[in-house]
Amino acid sequence: MKLYMFEAGILKSQKHFFTLNQGVGQAFDVPVPFFLIDHPKGKVLFDTGNAYETIHDKEKHWGGIVAAYDPVMSEDQWCVNAIKKIGCSPDEIKYVILSHLHLDHAGGVGHFPNARYVVQRDELHFAYVPDPYMKAAYIRKDFDKDVDWLILEGWAQDGFDLFGDGSIVIYFTPGHTPGHQSILVNLPNSGPMFFSADSCYTQANLDDGILPGLMWSAGETVKSVNRMRHLEQTRGAKIVTGHDPESWKSVKKAPEYYD
Ligand SMILES: [Zn+2]
Repeated sequence: MKLYMFEAGILKSQKHFFTLNQGVGQAFDVPVPFFLIDHPKGKVLFDTGNAYETIHDKEKHWGGIVAAYDPVMSEDQWCVNAIKKIGCSPDEIKYVILSHLHLDHAGGVGHFPNARYVVQRDELHFAYVPDPYMKAAYIRKDFDKDVDWLILEGWAQDGFDLFGDGSIVIYFTPGHTPGHQSILVNLPNSGPMFFSADSCYTQANLDDGILPGLMWSAGETVKSVNRMRHLEQTRGAKIVTGHDPESWKSVKKAPEYYD
């Protein structure tokens, strides 16, 4: 099994959106990560980054939210093109696990013709009818597609073991959004790695308990971060946060990989 890390460009943003009331108005450029796991039973993506349309016409595709999160992505960084560079064709992808359906995670939905798209029911519902403060972060045309959804039922299916061998386990991590999920990948040599996505944006959210600047529920956010801390302490899991520019510098990027 191999795990590859990709960057679907960056968001030019401001620090206080990631750390509540800290670095107000300070420029903060964050990576937009996504991941490919090459498992003997099939290839799996965790998230897909921004939509292709953001490369050439971001204002039209994303609307006014570009003032807060301005996407900068090249043709080669778009998920479909990026995986081709490691010899993976989009039709080889068996599952696309979506942490949530925000615009910088669900942009690739519909581009993997043989994939099942793994999403939480609570996320799919909220994405269609979001609370007004979060409406701009969901681009309905990105996910409103007739794909093969594999819908998970929150706590009832927490710990969903994708291949039944403990290698890719899906954790329900609500807080950032009502139906956020994260994955634990158990690699033979590198050990367990936990991919938080937006349930924990940065190292400051993890280590110092600083709340993120955007969330659906503060209480659920804290519980999800505590859960990943427990995995870090008891299982030795390496936590890969969702949008930390500093931590992201220290991880291996595709074509390098973890095994
Ligand atoms: Zn998000």
